Amino acid sequence: GESFDLQERQHIRNAMSDVEQIQAMVRHQLIKIYQESPKAQPLVIKMIKQFFPLKSALTAEIEELKELTKQEDGELFKKLRKTVERRIDLNQNPAKCSTAKKLYCNVQSACGFGCIIHHYTICLFISLGTGRVMMSNMSNLAYPNMDKIFLPLSRTCLTAEGNVDDYPEWESPNDEHPSSSDAPIVKVSIVYHRDRKTPFAPWTVPKDLIPSLERIHGNPMLWWIGQLQSYLMRPQKWLSDSIKEAKGEEFQHPIVGVHVRRSDKISEASYMANDAYMTAVSDWYDTYEMRHPNETVVRRIFLATDDILIGSQLKITYPKYRIVQIQKNAVVALAKRFSGSGLEGILQDVFLMAECDYFVGTMSSNVGRLVHELMQTRDYDTSNAAITIDHSFRYYGQFPERHLVLNDHHAENPCPPEFEPLPPNQFPKYVRERLQLENILKQGCEVELRKGDIIDAWPELNNNYMRGGVNIRSGRWGLYPKFKVKQIIEPAPYPVIENTSL
Ligand code: GDP
Repeated sequence: GESFDLQERQHIRNAMSDVEQIQAMVRHQLIKIYQESPKAQPLVIKMIKQFFPLKSALTAEIEELKELTKQEDGELFKKLRKTVERRIDLNQNPAKCSTAKKLYCNVQSACGFGCIIHHYTICLFISLGTGRVMMSNMSNLAYPNMDKIFLPLSRTCLTAEGNVDDYPEWESPNDEHPSSSDAPIVKVSIVYHRDRKTPFAPWTVPKDLIPSLERIHGNPMLWWIGQLQSYLMRPQKWLSDSIKEAKGEEFQHPIVGVHVRRSDKISEASYMANDAYMTAVSDWYDTYEMRHPNETVVRRIFLATDDILIGSQLKITYPKYRIVQIQKNAVVALAKRFSGSGLEGILQDVFLMAECDYFVGTMSSNVGRLVHELMQTRDYDTSNAAITIDHSFRYYGQFPERHLVLNDHHAENPCPPEFEPLPPNQFPKYVRERLQLENILKQGCEVELRKGDIIDAWPELNNNYMRGGVNIRSGRWGLYPKFKVKQIIEPAPYPVIENTSL
C-alpha cells in the first residue's frame, strides 16, 4: 500500500516519545505518593499493576506502526550510509596525496578511551567540511598505539611532511568561506573538550542529507555523528577476532546492553542505582514480550561496567534475568588510569553493547554515548534503541542543542531569577555551574515558554519527561515538558563531492 508521508512518520515518532514521557512522569509521581502517604500505598500498587501493562501494550502498537515502513526505509538508510561512506573514502584517499590539502589532528588530552576517541572525531568533522585529508599518528599520552587498533585513516596519504609544531593552527572560518586557510597542511590541536563553534561542529548535519534523514530517523544529528564515529573505529582484524571470541555462546538475541559506570565517575556525574537501569531493561522486555506472544523469552542482559560487584548484585536481586558479562573486563577497567592495557576490554564491551537490541546507560559517560553512536550504522531508526538514565546525549565541541517551543508553558514553580546565565551549552567545567544545574533538577523548577521561543538546552537537565535550559528570549532558566518543544536541526555547509549527491 501507500507509505506514510513525513508528517505521518513524525506523528508516530511523537506518539512514541509522548508515551515514554507519560510513563516516566507517572512512575516518578507514583513513587512519591507511595513514599509520602502510607494510606495511599494499596491504591498505588493497584495503579502500577494496571498502568504499566497498558503502557507496554500501547508501545507495542506504536512499534508495529513503525514496522510498516521498516523495509522501505531500509533501502534509503542503505543509500545514505553508502553515500556518506563514499564521501569519507574520497576525502581520505586522494589520488595524488602530495598536492592534497591536509589536516593534522593533534590530540593532547589525557583521558579515558571514549573521551580520547571523541576528540579525534572532532577533527574528522572539520576535515570533511574543509575538504582536507585527516591525518594523525593516533598516538597520544593515554593511548600510544591507536594506529594498531583501527584501520588507517587513509590508504593513499600515509605520512605528513614536516614537523607538527610548524603547521599553522586551523582557524574556524565563517559560513560564507568554509575553507579560509590556504595552507597545504594545518593542524587542529585539542587539549581539552573543544568548544570551537565551527560550521561543521557536531550537532549539525550536512544540508543535502537533511530531507532524507528527517523522513526516516528520529535524530539526524546522532545519525551523522554515528557514521563518522564508526569510520574512525573500523576495527583491525585482530580486534574483530577478539570481539567475536569474547562474545561467547551466551550472547544471543534478544539482549539488552547495560553499561554501569561507577568508580571515578561519581565525582563527575550523579550516582545511579542499579534499580534505575533495571527498570528501563524491564520496560523494554515487557514490550518485547507483548510483541512476541509465542516466544519463550529469556531476559538476557549484556553487562559492561567498571565496578566488579554489579554482576553478582544483579544476579541476586534480579534472578529472572540472565546476566552475560566479560568479567575480567570489569577487573581490568579499575586499573585503567595507570595503563593502556584496559583498551582491549573496553573495546570488546563497547562493540558488544552496540550489537545489542537495546541499550540502557548513562549519557554522562563517553562509553554510553559511544555505544549509541555505533548503533547508527544499522539500516533502521536507532534513535530510540538506547535510553539514558541521566543526561541526554551530547558531543564534545557541539553546536548548542536548540529547542523550538511549540506550545506555551506556564511555569508553576519558576526557577529563582538569581540563577546565573551560563555560556551556551558548554561543558559545565566549574563546580558552581554543575551545582546550578543540579539545583534546577533537584528543585524541579520551571521556565515560562511562549510559542516560537528558542531554548539553549543543557544535556544535564533531563529527567526523561522534562528537559531544561535557558530561554533565549527571557534569559531565564528552568525545566519544561519535552512534548512542548522540538529539536532544531542545524544544517552545515559540507561540500558535496562530485558524483556523491543523493
Ligand atoms: P567516561 O569517563 O565514562 O566519560 O568514559 P571514558 O571512556 O572517557 O573513560 C572511562 C574509562 O573507564 C574507559 O575508557 C575504560 O577504560 C574504563 N571503563 C569504563 N566503563 C567500562 C566498561 O564497562 N568496561 C570496560 N572494560 N572498561 C570500562
